[in-house]
Amino acid sequence: MTWQKHLPFKMCFIVWRALRDKIPTDARISQMNIANPSRCICCKNPDTENVNHLFNAGDYAFQLWKHIGGPFGINVEQSFYRQILINWWKIKAPNPVINILVKCIPIATSWEIWRTRCAAKYGNEPINFNNSVCLISFSVLQVIKNQFNNFQGNHSWNKVIYLNSCNINFKKTFTVSWLKPPVNFVKLNSDGSCKEGRCGGGGVIRNHQGHLVHAYTVKAGAGTNNLAEALALLHGIRWCIAVEHK
Ligand SMILES: [Zn+2]
Repeated sequence: MTWQKHLPFKMCFIVWRALRDKIPTDARISQMNIANPSRCICCKNPDTENVNHLFNAGDYAFQLWKHIGGPFGINVEQSFYRQILINWWKIKAPNPVINILVKCIPIATSWEIWRTRCAAKYGNEPINFNNSVCLISFSVLQVIKNQFNNFQGNHSWNKVIYLNSCNINFKKTFTVSWLKPPVNFVKLNSDGSCKEGRCGGGGVIRNHQGHLVHAYTVKAGAGTNNLAEALALLHGIRWCIAVEHK
């Protein structure tokens, strides 16, 4: 789950490192006997910065997860960062778009927490909650845009909420093409339908070069769609037998 191939490597890598406590948080640096007074940048009342604090329990991470996870029904009252990720990844997505959202959002959010922390700590950039939400939205919607050609609209958080709430009906599509029959054979394609009790159908017969050999329509009185389709097919087969076409 950590590695989502459609997201930038750096985002997945930060989650992988955080889960293994391989991130240079203040607490981690102190463990290496390097003098490092730990004062997190994420809270009103600064605390020791370790992975769980930075990515979960600190003011900033907590508010961010709460905002981002709310529309997805994620419980953020968790004591561990790992548990938040698990909660996201165990969501049963009803369609492929939501599947991408619930897989990618926790990774993009983790990255944004780390990016914000570093920008604030080393670049003196003010922490901007709305900016973080925008950047997370952009990252995950970019994945969806790359995956689904018909994606339209902006890359806002409202768009994420919209995609999560609307019941998109996905149908798997595959291209069907007409293939020529072998030499000395013809191919019959027929169809029929029934509307308001009146049935009709038709068909075309083409040779191995794809050229039209015969076309026909059939009329049948009252019936069903199945009857109309069967009659159209039967008419075509009878014609083929009559003129000794295979
Ligand atoms: Zn903090």
